[in-house]
Amino acid sequence: MINVAKILDGKKIAGEIKEEIKLEVNKWKSRGVIPCLSVLLVGDDAASIAYAKFLEKVASSVGVKFHLEQLNSEVSEDDVLSTIDKLNHNKEIHGILLLLPLPKHIDKQRVMDSVLPAKDVDGVHPINRGYILSNGQCIYPATPLSCLEILKRSGIELAGKHAVIVGRGETVGKPLLYMALSQNATVTVCHTRTPDLSYHTRQADVLFTAVGKPGLITRDMVKEGAVVVDAGISEVDGKICGDVDFDAVKEAAGAITPVPGGVGSLTTVLMLKNLLKGISMQESLVNIKVNN
Ligand code: NAP
Repeated sequence: MINVAKILDGKKIAGEIKEEIKLEVNKWKSRGVIPCLSVLLVGDDAASIAYAKFLEKVASSVGVKFHLEQLNSEVSEDDVLSTIDKLNHNKEIHGILLLLPLPKHIDKQRVMDSVLPAKDVDGVHPINRGYILSNGQCIYPATPLSCLEILKRSGIELAGKHAVIVGRGETVGKPLLYMALSQNATVTVCHTRTPDLSYHTRQADVLFTAVGKPGLITRDMVKEGAVVVDAGISEVDGKICGDVDFDAVKEAAGAITPVPGGVGSLTTVLMLKNLLKGISMQESLVNIKVNN
């Protein structure tokens, strides 16, 4: 009999999280706080414009106010920094998302570092990234968070499992290493210099991939019954796909995320959850100042 993996449905889970966000947004509103996300778009990158429109739709569907700050592609780095400074100081704005790419003359790291950590909804600020190492109170990056949330909400425990992560990128693989470790998984991370990738992937109870190479993970690289979480996103012949050869691997895996409809479906709603977490962090910062 052919094994068919359980499909971990990211869209369904995103729908559940949206309902929870709506309730939390209403709680904030009843206290006079209208959660507001500001998106900073520099230039006219088509994918960024499309994502900003999508974000606006998702935000308004859960009652979050959306603010777009758009700057032209010739703007100076100083002007971008002063725009962020203005957003950091605006008490009616609770989260800031900087859309990438930025024009080449602008130092991406300098700009990302200028966002107030408590307003950094994508968890890219060095202070948030640093706190991940100690499993601290911080804002976690949305994509690794999605990889773990999809497991948690599907009743799949990481503790005591061997998690193998393929990819050590700054956005997904590297933060995921520490986040999975803090959930008591034993973690192996693979990259381009890892000899015999399939030796490692076959050891995985839970296999995460965050590479961006379609078809990299084939059926023979996956242990029977393993859980496969695919964060990769690529476009082939106009179709979105992940790193995993989904149709073949689902015959070996015990559970698997599809692409699209898996990890990627959760990232935007988890960013909005981060926004709400950030409001609490901003409130406690105000209290610290008042009490001192
Ligand atoms: P990245 O910074 O380019 O990292 C890719 C990683 O894959 C690197 O560590 C690289 O190794 C490794 N790699 C490349 N080819 C490999 C191979 N043949 N065998 C083993 N490892 C290999 O990318 P990223 O920003 O982390 O993103 C990773 C993927 O996640 C991309 O497809 C991206 O589109 C996707 N993504 C998805 C979401 C979402 O919402 N689902 C969000 C963000 C990103 P080296 O370090 O040795 O070069």
